[in-house]
Formats: sequence, C-alpha cells, structure tokens
Amino acid sequence: MLKEFNISTKERYELIDITERVEKIVQESDIKNGLILVFIPHSTAGIVLTEDESGLKEDWLKVLKKLVSDFDFLHNQIDNNADSHILSGLIGQGKTLIVENGRLIRGTWQKIFLVELNGPRTRDVIIKIFQG
Ligand code: ZN
Repeated sequence: MLKEFNISTKERYELIDITERVEKIVQESDIKNGLILVFIPHSTAGIVLTEDESGLKEDWLKVLKKLVSDFDFLHNQIDNNADSHILSGLIGQGKTLIVENGRLIRGTWQKIFLVELNGPRTRDVIIKIFQG
C-alpha cells in the first residue's frame, strides 16, 4: 500500500512536524503489524526523528547551517544549493518505523520531522506500508 501527502514549506531551512499526518495514514490503513517507510522523493530535504521543542528546532538549524558554512561548493555554480543536497544526503531521505497492534512505535520525544533545506517549496511525503 502506498500513500502520499504534500507539505508546503515557508523557509529555506525549516523543521516541520509530520507525525500526525503519518499516524493518521497508519490508522486509516488498518495495518495491524508491519513496517512503514516514510520517504521523500527529494534531494534537498530530509527526514529526522527528534523532539518537538522550539529551542531544539533552532539548534538543529544552527548545526545544519554550520556544517555547510565553510565550503566553496562547485555545485553552487549551477544552482546555488550544494548545501541543501549535502545535508539532505547526510540526514537521509527516509525512515523506516515499526507498526505494532495498529500503532506506530516511537518514543515519547520521537516526532517525525520533514527537514526543509531548500524552501520554500511543496514537498511530497510518500508512505509505503508493509504488512507482516
Ligand atoms: Zn542542485
């Protein structure tokens, strides 16, 4: 089973909590046990699991910007977003999560975030559901 939704981002760099959208899809799918893959078909955004706290979200952006602040990127001669591609690859463009008894297993502070790294844009989030 494959599901999809869109997220409109507003900033160049931004963390957006998509946990509720993903959990709604899990509930509507009627899956009891299995895995879900949360995947974005984009090379300038990422998916992370982290706490939904405003200071921490700022900290994430601070670290990400610093990681790519000191380079003379060749790709920037083409479309000025080498930082976005590099961070997207480092963060990863998908996460696999466990569904048990119809519920997504995640820690109290583990929320699913889309990390926008080249916004504002409309991003597709694809959920692939595997029963078993
Ligand atoms: Zn590019």
